[in-house]
Amino acid sequence: MENMNEYIFGNKVVKGQDLEKEKAENFLCHFKNSPINFKEDGLEKTAEEIKVLNDFNDFLGEEFEEMNLPFKDVPQDRIIFLNSESFDKLGEKEFKTALYDNYNNVIVANHGYEEWESKRLFWYKAILHEMIHFVSFQKNLLIKKEDNRTQINNLRVGYRGRGKEVKNDIFKGFNEGMTDLIVMDILKKHKEELALDFNISKEEEEEFISTKKQFYEYAFFINDLIKRIAEKTDKDEGEVWKKMKEGCFTGEMMHLREIERVLGKDSLKILSRLGYSDEENKKVYDFFKLDRD
Ligand SMILES: [Zn+2]
Repeated sequence: MENMNEYIFGNKVVKGQDLEKEKAENFLCHFKNSPINFKEDGLEKTAEEIKVLNDFNDFLGEEFEEMNLPFKDVPQDRIIFLNSESFDKLGEKEFKTALYDNYNNVIVANHGYEEWESKRLFWYKAILHEMIHFVSFQKNLLIKKEDNRTQINNLRVGYRGRGKEVKNDIFKGFNEGMTDLIVMDILKKHKEELALDFNISKEEEEEFISTKKQFYEYAFFINDLIKRIAEKTDKDEGEVWKKMKEGCFTGEMMHLREIERVLGKDSLKILSRLGYSDEENKKVYDFFKLDRD
C-alpha cells in the first residue's frame, strides 16, 4: 500500500497516493483536457465586467474576513466568457448560463445570449454563484492510474459530497440553495453601492428582485428550515444562518446534526437527496411538511 498524502491549501484539500506537495498545488491552478481552449476561446471582458468581478472578489473577501478565514481572489483568467458556439462544445445540458468546472478549476459563462445586455443582473448573479462554488471548501482525490495518468475524483464542493455512484452524490440541492442564499445575501448587503457603480435603474432592480431564480425553490426551503431550527432551539435565526453559511466554506458539517435533532430521525438523509430529480424533491418536501412533534 502506497502512502496517502494529504495537503491543505486554505480551504482546499488535495489528497493522493505518494502525492508530492507541488503536484497537489498544481492541480488547483492548471488547466486539464477540455474541448475548450480556455485561454484562446475566452472573450475579452468589458471594463464593466472587469469591475463587477473585482467587486465580487472584494465582497467575498469581506465575507471571509468576517468568518476569520483566509481568502484568495478568484483570478479573472479563471472566469472565462465564451460565445454560445464555444459554450455548446462543453456539452452541458443542465446549466445554460454559467458553470463551475471543478476538474479544470474554472468558471465558464455563456456570453452568447442577446439578453446578456438587457438582463445583465441575472448574468452577474449567475457568475457570483459560480464564484462561491470556486471559493467553497473542496476536497479532491488524485489517483495514479496504471498508465501513469492522474485521475481526479472530486469528493466535496461546499456541502455537496461526491461519490463514485449516483446514490453517493449527496446534498447537491442543499448546496445549490445555500449558494444562492449567500449570493442574495451579498447582493442585498451591497445593493446601494452596486446601484451607484453600475447605474442600475429602479426598473432593472425590480425586475431582478421579482423574478424567481434557478434555485429559488431550494433557497426558499432552506430559509424555512433555518426558521424552524431557530424556533425549536431557541436560537437567533441569524446565528443558525451564520453556522450554515460558514459550513459551505470550511467543510464543517457537524451543525447539520441539529436538523436531525430538531426535525426528526432520518431528516438529514432525506435532505441529502434534494436536487436530484423532481420525484426525489417531492419526497423531501413531503417529509419536511409533516409536523414531526
Ligand atoms: Zn451551482
